[in-house]
This record gives sequence, structure tokens and C-alpha cells, in this order.
Amino acid sequence: AITINGLSKSYKLKKQEIPVLHDIELNIEQGEFVALMGPSGSGKSTLLNVIGGIDKSDSGEVLVAGKRLDECSDSELTKWRGDNVGIVFQSYNLIPVLSAEENVRLPLYKTKLSRKEQKKRVAAALELVGLADRAKHKPTQLSGGQQQRIAIARALVSNASILICDEPTGDLDREMADKVLGLLKTLNTSIGKSIIMVTHDPKAASYADRILYMDKGYIEDTV
Ligand code: ATP
Ligand code: MG
Repeated sequence: AITINGLSKSYKLKKQEIPVLHDIELNIEQGEFVALMGPSGSGKSTLLNVIGGIDKSDSGEVLVAGKRLDECSDSELTKWRGDNVGIVFQSYNLIPVLSAEENVRLPLYKTKLSRKEQKKRVAAALELVGLADRAKHKPTQLSGGQQQRIAIARALVSNASILICDEPTGDLDREMADKVLGLLKTLNTSIGKSIIMVTHDPKAASYADRILYMDKGYIEDTV
């Protein structure tokens, strides 16, 4: 679950302070699938980054999967992130010199899991996204949609209860987008993962249980 109270954040650039998030209130229950929409620059990625423990808030309470992220040190955040959230970036962020299975395995390297267990997890994640037969392919040898599904497999491999996706279908054609969204929906309904997904695509948002709109750093909760 995610509970946010009075979250504010600004970026300091030279001597200027640019407010980006204003007094955000947000509750997402475990197992919910929430879409986050709003104009470019409204603060969606910044909010996801705070929820994912990549970026820090200036003030307010941020409780994610039972942890007060606003009270964590950077090293605590890094450790927490590895076990608790899977993150899918819009640009995939796959490492070009690594194969699909090596990319998927990345979040497990610093865990205590044995090599054998890591291999098992990677195989299961690839199976889940329907790309078991592409394990040895490098990212450049995969289509855009396949790369996106590898990025999703990597976000799943640690068995985190929360999946954060920043425009997971932004670069995909309709057919591939629907495939990726169907996969997210299945992960949500059959495994019970909480999903928070930024999207500009109304059809993508329709896969969610609830749509939130952001504008100029404010969030409005609507149906
Ligand atoms: P988009 O739909 O285009 O991805 P967004 O809603 O995700 O937009 P954010 O990336 O959260 O928007 O950015 C919100 C605001 O914060 C923008 O005005 C942006 O210029 C500013 N911003 C983001 N990152 C930084 C940074 N590292 N330093 C300074 N300002 C930043
Ligand atoms: Mg963004």
C-alpha cells in the first residue's frame, strides 16, 4: 500500500527554487491498479520517483510498503528499493551489452539469493512476459515491445509487491501496447501486484481501476 500525506518537493536550480509537487495526498491500496495522467511537466515522473525511492521529498509523509521513505537515508532507500518496488522506465533502460536474461537478473546481483535461485527467478520472469525463447538475445536483437517486456520482467524478478511504470507503452504501436497492458493487468489481477502507471493514452488508462490526474504539481482524485 502507498500512503502519502502533504508531500511537497521543489528542485533547486542555481539560486532558483522550482516547486514541482504541492501538498500531495494519495492513498493506494495493495492490489490496486492506478493510472496517473496529466500534461507534460505536471510532476508525474517526479511523484513516481519519490514513491519508488529514487528521489526524495522535501516535506510530508511517504509510506510505501510499510516503510517511511521520508525518514530513510540514501543507503536505506537503495536497499529498500531492491526488495519492494519494481520500476519500468519509459526508455526501458536495458543495458545493451547484456543479454535479455542478464538484464532481467540485474536486480538480483546484490541479493543473498543463490545462483541457482536467481536463475530460477529469471526464467520464471521471462516465462511470465512470454519471452523465454529470447533469453540470449541482446536488446538490439529485440523489437520495441519485446524490450519493454524484458524491462517488465526485470521489474518483476525481485517479487516486489509494487510495480511502478512510467509510460510503459509510450513507444509501442497499438497492438504491442495492448499486449503489454494485458500483461500488467494479469500481474495485477492474478498475482495481486499494486501497479501505478503514468500514461498519456486514455486506452491504456482504461486498464486501471482508478485514474488520477495531475496538473502543475497538484493531484486531483477522480473516478
Ligand atoms: P512528462 O509527461 O513530460 O514526462 P512529467 O509530468 O513526468 O512530464 P516531471 O518529469 O515530473 O514531469 O517534471 C516536473 C517538473 O519538474 C518539470 O517542470 C521539470 O522541468 C522539473 N524537473 C524535473 N526534474 C528536474 C531536475 N532534476 N531539476 C530541475 N527541475 C526538474
Ligand atoms: Mg514524465
